[in-house]
Amino acid sequence: MPETELTMLETSHAYFNESCDLLELDEGLRQVLLNPWRELSVSVPIRMDDGSIRVFNGFRIQHNGVRGPYKGGVRFAPAADADHTNALAMLMTWKTALVDIPFGGAKGGVQVRPSELSNNELNRLTRRYTSAISHIIGPNRDIPAPDMGTNAQVMAWMMDEYGQSHGYAPGAVTGKPIELGGSYGREAATGRGVCDVAALAASDAGIEIRGASVAIQGFGNVGSFAARRMEEIGAKVVAISDATYALYDKNGLDIDQIFDHVVKTRSLEDCPWGESITNDQLLELDVDILIPAAIEGVITMQNARDIRAKMIVEAANSPVTYGANTILEDRGITVIPDILANAGGVIVSYFEWAQNIQRFRWTLERVNDELYTIISGAYQRAADMAKERQITQRSAAYAVAVGTVARATELRGFI
Ligand code: NAD
Repeated sequence: MPETELTMLETSHAYFNESCDLLELDEGLRQVLLNPWRELSVSVPIRMDDGSIRVFNGFRIQHNGVRGPYKGGVRFAPAADADHTNALAMLMTWKTALVDIPFGGAKGGVQVRPSELSNNELNRLTRRYTSAISHIIGPNRDIPAPDMGTNAQVMAWMMDEYGQSHGYAPGAVTGKPIELGGSYGREAATGRGVCDVAALAASDAGIEIRGASVAIQGFGNVGSFAARRMEEIGAKVVAISDATYALYDKNGLDIDQIFDHVVKTRSLEDCPWGESITNDQLLELDVDILIPAAIEGVITMQNARDIRAKMIVEAANSPVTYGANTILEDRGITVIPDILANAGGVIVSYFEWAQNIQRFRWTLERVNDELYTIISGAYQRAADMAKERQITQRSAAYAVAVGTVARATELRGFI
């Protein structure tokens, strides 16, 4: 176990190196798979509504494109620097390989706090960023999608800006509004996939999902849809939170009511249901399944010994630090890794891209059925590997993913 917490980039490298050891990959191939193929850093100047000019830092990092066009979200957040974006780009390479969709991995970011910008400023920022990276993106090159701080509206602006110089190309970004070629089911896909995987893992661990107690940190896109889906499949969501408020009811919260409240007020504040607890208390509840669905690094070496959940399903990217992962492993707590648990979003992004290219729309039922086929197949591949090699779910998922990209690299024959 490390003495101090690793950064997200160090964590990605550590898991990658462990899987290379397991797969006995040679040193040269490791270097090809470790290093990003292209890192673009751009300056994003915009005129603010008050007439002043501000310049933001933007990035698009393409980690690996051996299995298809690069794919990955765009994050608008102060912490979205080059190292952070790099770590997330690498995660995308393993995620697309693990679920076996024909994409590589990338990530983008602008270091900005979007809540401090007006809608018009956000529109100008998105367009400036898109035009700065437009020579390296496109339906057959690199396909951005929403992530923290961005949404379907931002994707609509990106598609429009890209189209100004390249012609109509809805397949250039995913996570678009339905009216502009978005896919049914995309908005709910990550949360739905989290629940599909959680139910499979629970069943293998002897936990009956109907009636299982679930605590979810984060009530944004992923957390809110995961909470609603958990309720639909019969689990009992006993706790939820946003950045400032957390609610608990041991008999189960009424998620639909809370969702309506948050749609109206944009916060869990003043919710009349459940008892108020802190985010830290939520993480340490005695529940069957804990779903961190907010930000990275919330389960750390400090609180990992106090976690009482039987199983953790990583809906956010990297919510469990490397050190905490070692402690949880020693304590026998199952962790379903992010590259599997939150892959539902990129899977339905793949469906959206395929629909855009075919100029054909699938029904919601077809989207959800095919999502289940793909994510349950990936779960099974990782679970089989874990059983066969007697390793954790995370090590197994990484081994399947890294092995897939390594074989594709060798088959391409470019080195
Ligand atoms: P979001 O911005 O819609 O929601 C984030 C939620 O987390 C909000 O409820 C916010 O209040 C809460 N939050 C923020 N800071 C917090 C803190 N310090 N403590 C507790 N809660 C906090 O974001 P999202 O799209 O739901 O993404 C959440 C996570 O899932 C991110 O790690 C993201 O990278 C990952 N993810 C998202 C998708 C997707 O399709 N949206 C896909 C894969 C992975």
